[in-house]
Amino acid sequence: KQYGVNELRKMFLDFFQSKGHLAMKSFSLVPHNDKSLLLINSGMAPLKPYFTGAEIPPRRRVTTCQKCIRTGDIENVGKTARHGTFFEMLGNFSFGDYFKHEAIAWSWEFLTEVVGLDADRLYPSVYLEDDEAFDIWNKEVGIPAERIFRFGKEDNFWEHGAGPCGPCSEIYYDRGEKYGCGKPGCTVGCDCDRYIEVWNNVFTQFENDGNGNYTELQQKNIDTGMGLERLAVVVQDVDSIFDVDTIEALRNKVCEFAHTEYKTDEKKDVSIRLITDHIRSATFMISDGIMPTNEGRGYVLRRLIRRAARHGRLLGISGKFLSELSATVIEGSKDGYPELEEKKDFIFKVLTQEEDKFNKTIDQGLSILSGMESKMEAEGVKTLAGRDAFTLYDTYGFPLDLTKEILEEKGYTIDEEGFKAAMEEQRTKARNAREVTNYMGADATVYDEIDPSVTTEFVGYDKLEYTSKI
Ligand code: ATP
Ligand code: MG
Ligand code: MG
Ligand code: MG
Repeated sequence: KQYGVNELRKMFLDFFQSKGHLAMKSFSLVPHNDKSLLLINSGMAPLKPYFTGAEIPPRRRVTTCQKCIRTGDIENVGKTARHGTFFEMLGNFSFGDYFKHEAIAWSWEFLTEVVGLDADRLYPSVYLEDDEAFDIWNKEVGIPAERIFRFGKEDNFWEHGAGPCGPCSEIYYDRGEKYGCGKPGCTVGCDCDRYIEVWNNVFTQFENDGNGNYTELQQKNIDTGMGLERLAVVVQDVDSIFDVDTIEALRNKVCEFAHTEYKTDEKKDVSIRLITDHIRSATFMISDGIMPTNEGRGYVLRRLIRRAARHGRLLGISGKFLSELSATVIEGSKDGYPELEEKKDFIFKVLTQEEDKFNKTIDQGLSILSGMESKMEAEGVKTLAGRDAFTLYDTYGFPLDLTKEILEEKGYTIDEEGFKAAMEEQRTKARNAREVTNYMGADATVYDEIDPSVTTEFVGYDKLEYTSKI
């Protein structure tokens, strides 16, 4: 049977509730009391205080479907079948309660019995030295030894400096030869889209003292994460996360705006997928109170919006389209995230304002950039001067990585050091100018604050004015 995304989310949460878990609502994308993270990137991230013992969890078994942003995956978006900057992570968590036996058995039960995936297409991996997990898969679940992969630290050990850490066990699904890279040795763990990683089970059992000495933790934890979109890809047997039911509707809307059809031109498809992804990220970020600015998470949002707008141009979309697209995001996801519907008007407003701002300068900026390209070509230069990149940023609102992406397509790079120097120079100038103003009694120091969590702090849904100069 084919389950929809919204159905799968519910099935997961229901299943773990039946195993004694407390279902908690997704936390905001904006981390709470956590300076180490710009945006929530996993189900575990907002639960950290429960894992470290800093706070008492409402129950020792918790399950969530957490909205996540991973800008680190941005280069992959549109190009692989499985990466979005935005996705939902399903997870079950044990705070010193159950451990490996239950976690493994339940993940298997959910995938094969509840969802009904073909067991012969599923492959678990374990950390090289984790014989315990290997034996559970082999002897308790009954997976033949040759179907269980042992990987090293890089893939199967979860660790962030000193502190709690541990091995993990991932579950891959073989989507068949047609998705393979065809290279010899393509198997579980290959970076192509054939053996797609669906679920990661992390067994937090050690404490790293920071010098590589590991001791067993008193309280062992379970932290798991499965991409909801990826689960839907394998359940619905579709090509990519952009083909699952809820996202397909959005993708089609992008095609409508571009007066084009999906799968007629690979280059266009990349842009279509990219816009589809970025508008999801942007919509959810705004619903959590993030505003487009020039710093921190506000800048992440601005980059996503502007990158989507530029790819809209590539597809031949001339007017504004992002706020209308976000209506489709909201329609598809409001079941799981009622806040989207509640903040609908606000989301539209922010997107419209940001798009308006960028639309004023984008065409001019693109034409200036193409002038710069011609000049480089005439001079046989391969690197754009930092000052030029800064002009595009400062005057035309082109985030550096947008300029970079445009140039990379044509084999050029940017002098990023030069860009930073130009930025610094301008900051110094601005600071000096403000010192003059300070004579008049104005307090300017607030603008020097670059802590992202401070400068992009949410100021209220009615307030649409922000201090950025772009
Ligand atoms: P991959 O190797 O495919 O990049 P990962 O190992 O980085 O995935 P984890 O950090 O283990 O992913 O996250 C847990 C789960 O979240 C993954 O097994 C996958 O199902 C899902 N996931 C991770 N990154 C993304 C993404 N960018 N888009 C969609 N789903 C993702
Ligand atoms: Mg990854
Ligand atoms: Mg991986
Ligand atoms: Mg993983």
